[in-house]
Amino acid sequence: MSSGGVSGGAARARELEARLGAVRARVAEASAGRPAPDLIVVTKYFPASDVRILADLGVTDVGENRDQEAAAKAAELGDLGLRWHFIGQMQTNKAKSVVRYADSVHSVDRPALVGALGKAMAAEQARRTAGGMPARSDLDCFLQFALDADRPASTPGSGTGGRGGAHPDEAGELARAVAATPGLRLAGVMGVAPLGADPADAFDLLLRISGTVRSVEPSAAAVSAGMSGDLEAAVAAGATHLRIGSDVLGPRPAVG
Ligand SMILES: *Cc1c(COP(=O)(O)O)cnc(C)c1O
Repeated sequence: MSSGGVSGGAARARELEARLGAVRARVAEASAGRPAPDLIVVTKYFPASDVRILADLGVTDVGENRDQEAAAKAAELGDLGLRWHFIGQMQTNKAKSVVRYADSVHSVDRPALVGALGKAMAAEQARRTAGGMPARSDLDCFLQFALDADRPASTPGSGTGGRGGAHPDEAGELARAVAATPGLRLAGVMGVAPLGADPADAFDLLLRISGTVRSVEPSAAAVSAGMSGDLEAAVAAGATHLRIGSDVLGPRPAVG
């Protein structure tokens, strides 16, 4: 952003510092002496200038949910060495773009997307080799599960509508698909607690699914769970990665 000037920028920096400090304090308190989970600050809809302020405040991991917006920010902020996490529902035709900047995808919810990401990673490595660039590291894949316990197992098009997420019964199949795909690293599981239910129940279910995934790939122990409203429940359940947006950045702008 070019508007705002020095004083506007300084005011925003103070605001983000205070909000980030409050979230870090909540995470530390919820962790109660255990190692705190990784904090991913979800910067969707907010300008690159905010991401730069957050990087100055020690944030290393940011989350985005739309490819166009994420690609533009990652290009503008390439000097910061941030890790970019793609957390939104993803169409297969975005895979090629996403693997250019993303270190991880938290929304892997169907075999077709696993295939598309694998193909995109192979193409990306070939592009880098041809351009004399160093290879990138494998893409960390979190399998996203729908945590509404009452959804039928055979919902057609799982992961293509609504909030997304595979059915828990699909955990083994999806985990094996990622583990068998060169260029992808099975990191673990991801879930969003359903509205109107106790997040503790949802995160308990996610931890049980994590057990299934670890039985396929023991190193895939990451659990991406917890947003602004339910981070304490996620930490208590054993989350390793929190995805926090509005409590750090403020209410999201209505646009978009
Ligand atoms: C937007 C978003 C978040 C952050 O939500 P807040 O409530 O703003 O903290 C986390 N996870 C996903 C998948 C999101 O889309």
